[in-house]
Amino acid sequence: MRKLSNILQKITRLKRQNVVLLLLVSFALVVVVVVAIVLTALQTIASTTNALDERRSRQAMSGALAMMRNQMATTMHDYAVWDDAARAVYVPDSQEWIVENFGLASDASDLFDTAYLLGPGNTVVMAYQRGARFTVPPSEFLSSAFDVMMKTVRDAGTSDEAEASGFLQTKEGVAVVGISTIRAASTDVTVPIDRLQQLVFIRHLDRHKVAEIAKTYLIRDLRLVDAANLHPGAAPIKDPAGKVIGGLAWIAQAPGDVSYRQVRPYIFAAMSIVGIFVVLLVIAGGAVIGRLRGDEIAARRAALKDRLSGLRNRTGLFDGLQAMIDQAKDRRDDVMLFYLDMDGFKEVNDVYGHATGDRLIKSVAAGLSHLVPEGGILARLGGDEFAIALPIKRGDGGPPPLEAHILDFFSEPFVIGDLIVVAGVSVGNAISPLGSIDAEELLRRADIAMYKAKAEGRGRAIAYDAEMDAVLAERKALEAALRSGIHSNEFYVVYQPVVDAVSHSIVGLEALLRWRSPVMGMVSPDIFIPLAETTGLIDKLGLFVMEEALRVVRTWPQIGISINVSPAQFRNPFFIPKVSHLLEESGVRPSSVTLEVTEGYFIHNPEQARHMIGALNGLGVRMALDDFGAGFSSIGYLRQFGFDRLKLDRSMIRALEDGPRGRDMLQATLALAAALDIPVTAEGIETEEEAVILRLCGCDHLQGYYFSRPVEASALPALLADKAAPGIVTLSA
Ligand code: C2E
Ligand code: CA
Ligand code: CA
Repeated sequence: MRKLSNILQKITRLKRQNVVLLLLVSFALVVVVVVAIVLTALQTIASTTNALDERRSRQAMSGALAMMRNQMATTMHDYAVWDDAARAVYVPDSQEWIVENFGLASDASDLFDTAYLLGPGNTVVMAYQRGARFTVPPSEFLSSAFDVMMKTVRDAGTSDEAEASGFLQTKEGVAVVGISTIRAASTDVTVPIDRLQQLVFIRHLDRHKVAEIAKTYLIRDLRLVDAANLHPGAAPIKDPAGKVIGGLAWIAQAPGDVSYRQVRPYIFAAMSIVGIFVVLLVIAGGAVIGRLRGDEIAARRAALKDRLSGLRNRTGLFDGLQAMIDQAKDRRDDVMLFYLDMDGFKEVNDVYGHATGDRLIKSVAAGLSHLVPEGGILARLGGDEFAIALPIKRGDGGPPPLEAHILDFFSEPFVIGDLIVVAGVSVGNAISPLGSIDAEELLRRADIAMYKAKAEGRGRAIAYDAEMDAVLAERKALEAALRSGIHSNEFYVVYQPVVDAVSHSIVGLEALLRWRSPVMGMVSPDIFIPLAETTGLIDKLGLFVMEEALRVVRTWPQIGISINVSPAQFRNPFFIPKVSHLLEESGVRPSSVTLEVTEGYFIHNPEQARHMIGALNGLGVRMALDDFGAGFSSIGYLRQFGFDRLKLDRSMIRALEDGPRGRDMLQATLALAAALDIPVTAEGIETEEEAVILRLCGCDHLQGYYFSRPVEASALPALLADKAAPGIVTLSA
């Protein structure tokens, strides 16, 4: 279980770091992806821009070609549809006019470089090129598409349709060619329909013309290419038959690419900045992770440590112990655990204060750390509890030397500054054979053994055995029985008389609780009262006793009633109002009621005790300090609280049997009471001799089997009728 939680812890720790790393890596990835998208988008824009520019260029080139054709058509019209020409060419001896007006015009003209005047059957009437007579006939100079053009023109007679223009392949290259029948613009001039002549102008797309177009349309590197080298991006030139005879090609300017190339460095710069940022982030993140890890390790270490002693704490012990057990499994060793609980530490704390208590803890921690062999673990479990774990060789029988060393160490008094403090220790130990018992169970077993050591009289070491679990189980069963016993009225109250030390007449009764269990028979209050205190059932039981006692004692107003109250009841905030209510209800005089309390409570909670006693005094009840002389008596505290009476513990009476030593002790204790000027009741008087001694020692009230055992309420009327205990009868007889 514990191992699993350790592993889980490790995984979550790993995960936390990985998450940060993962975040950084994903962030870097996001940056790369974003940059890629931006570049792709820019590239798309660039190629779209390129395509648009390409189309624009192609449209411009097509436009330029169309313009050339139109220009040619206009020129043809100007020259051929002309009254003077119509009059001049159709008469004999017109050669001179023709050459002058058409032929010579081909020289240095931007409109045409070659001119033909053709008669029927394409007979050459005139042919000139660049101002000089030209001898190549059109059938040789021009491609066959020329005939098609010529036919449409001839077929049109003298109508407006007798004109054509288009691109043709010539011997010299590609040219725009215009054909028009020579005819009159006005109706005054008549032309001979049967021998019409056609004027043909040819303008080659030479280098100059191409350069001019390039300049006009802002096309870079424009050139004329032949049909074979024409690529799809270029503007094709077709003859009237639809045949591609060449084209205009240019180098694409790709303005998108240009922009893209211009922008790209910025993108890369931005990407680099982001990249550097990410790298810095990763480095910083790494540093932060490192620091966090360091903090975590430190925090973990601190969480495993006890601040006061500097030793491991309970968690630290668990960590180390489980690891030790796991290792023992592999090495086939045993692990031994000692559970130490100091005896008398609380008293040291109460009497000398917490600072001294802390110093005692520190010196115990220091001393123990010298005792723990190498490979062992020492921890402070809290308060005055320590634990020592160590691996031992398999089958090493008998108590290990460490146990003796621990007891020796505590047998010496501790020197704390000017003080010499005695503090013992109770030790429980348990073994995990071959690591078969896990840390939690091992600690539980050593703890049980330690309790056994405490119960058996402290200052000793006891090894765990399985029977202790049976005791524990018994305790659990007893607790359950106690609970059900309250419900089924198994409890009742008996009353023990308290007599006057001189007259032996009954002056009071002490109410004592009894439990008759149908299963276990009579159970001693020494067993069930502590259990009721630790389980919180004492509140109910205590009030039950009080209610019963007040009800019973009502009949004898002159008799006092003593009721035992547990410290646990004092802690209940409803205790005072409850007592007040019960007193009122019973009608018993509060001054005849004495509450008996043991001193422990007053020592541990002086402030609250003072408050409670004040409140109870307010109700008018008396307070008695029970079991006086049994434990640790702090006179200073007692004086402050103003008890009305002390009850001498019966162990002091028993001590009388030890001879003069016991008597000295008794006298010393009673001298203390006398110094405090508080009356004393001696309880546990079993013999006449004891009754005499205690009276002589100054006790004014006596209580014990010698006078009467506790009796049930039903026996009280007889006992109180003659107002004297049986003991008196015996004594006087
Ligand atoms: P305690 O308050 O010291 O009560 C006196 C105990 O001494 C009683 O034991 C009584 O029976 C016993 N005793 C009286 N005379 C003699 C004698 O001559 N010789 C011997 N050996 N014993 C004598 P009990 O009734 O067994 O009670 C034990 C303890 O249980 C009480 O000690 C008291 O601390 C606690 N207790 C009993 N009843 C109550 C109760 O109602 N409330 C609380 N809180 N505690 C109670
Ligand atoms: Ca008592
Ligand atoms: Ca007592």
